[in-house]
Amino acid sequence: MKYGYRSLKTYAVMLLLFLSAVLGFYSLGRRVSQYEIDRLSWEQQAHETQFKAVEVKIEELSQQIENLNKNDAALRRTVGLDQIPDEVYQVGIGGREKIWPTQPSPAKEAWERLDKISRGISLLRTNLEEAERKATENAEFLSRIPSISPVPGGLINSRFGMRIHPIYGVEAMHEGVDLAAKEGTPIIASADGVVTFNGNYGGYGRMIEIDHGNGIVTRYAHNRINKVRVGQRVTRSQIVALVGSTGITTASHLHYEVRRDGKPVDPLPYILPGAIVD
Ligand SMILES: [Zn+2]
Repeated sequence: MKYGYRSLKTYAVMLLLFLSAVLGFYSLGRRVSQYEIDRLSWEQQAHETQFKAVEVKIEELSQQIENLNKNDAALRRTVGLDQIPDEVYQVGIGGREKIWPTQPSPAKEAWERLDKISRGISLLRTNLEEAERKATENAEFLSRIPSISPVPGGLINSRFGMRIHPIYGVEAMHEGVDLAAKEGTPIIASADGVVTFNGNYGGYGRMIEIDHGNGIVTRYAHNRINKVRVGQRVTRSQIVALVGSTGITTASHLHYEVRRDGKPVDPLPYILPGAIVD
């Protein structure tokens, strides 16, 4: 016999060990790949859940933009800006990004919706700036329109229009309103503007004239003391003079005029209701 019983036995044991090692590795490998498959499938599910959450958030943002667009339209109406067509609010199609394939995919769709939201925000920012500018402009315009009584609480004792002159006794045009008030009562500017006259002006006595722009000028006459100088900027409600009886007058009062494009107009429509005690 070439091989002894002992060496044959050793050979058989070694062969068995080898085979069991091969089988062991094989089944271990199978188990590893099953683990890998389970892990990937679990990850896939997690990604899908996470992506759904992203889509919900995108939908929420889209809704918010829609609501802000409605607010924007209302704001534009309020400040007197032209309405924006709905197509513009829908902000069209954005630039194509090279990373996305031509065929549709959930991620590509999500990206396109986000891109639209981003363009919607840009449009809203521009619109908001425009509305802010317009609102400031409106406020400035309104601040220069006479709208309050220059002598708060002063009683109107002579209105605008033809009347018998209290001193000359002849029918003459009364180019303003007379507000009865005690000597020294403060006279306030009825709107923002620039002082264009401070001094004596014939029968008007001591007078202040304020230019409010847009062709509107106000005059405050028969003053005891003038409190502002020519060229000075004044704001509505700022004291410009004190009531007196300078010039041609029978008693202390303020003669108040509003002139448009050089012609006197009835000041009453320029004194807001509630500002007059008549
Ligand atoms: Zn008068």
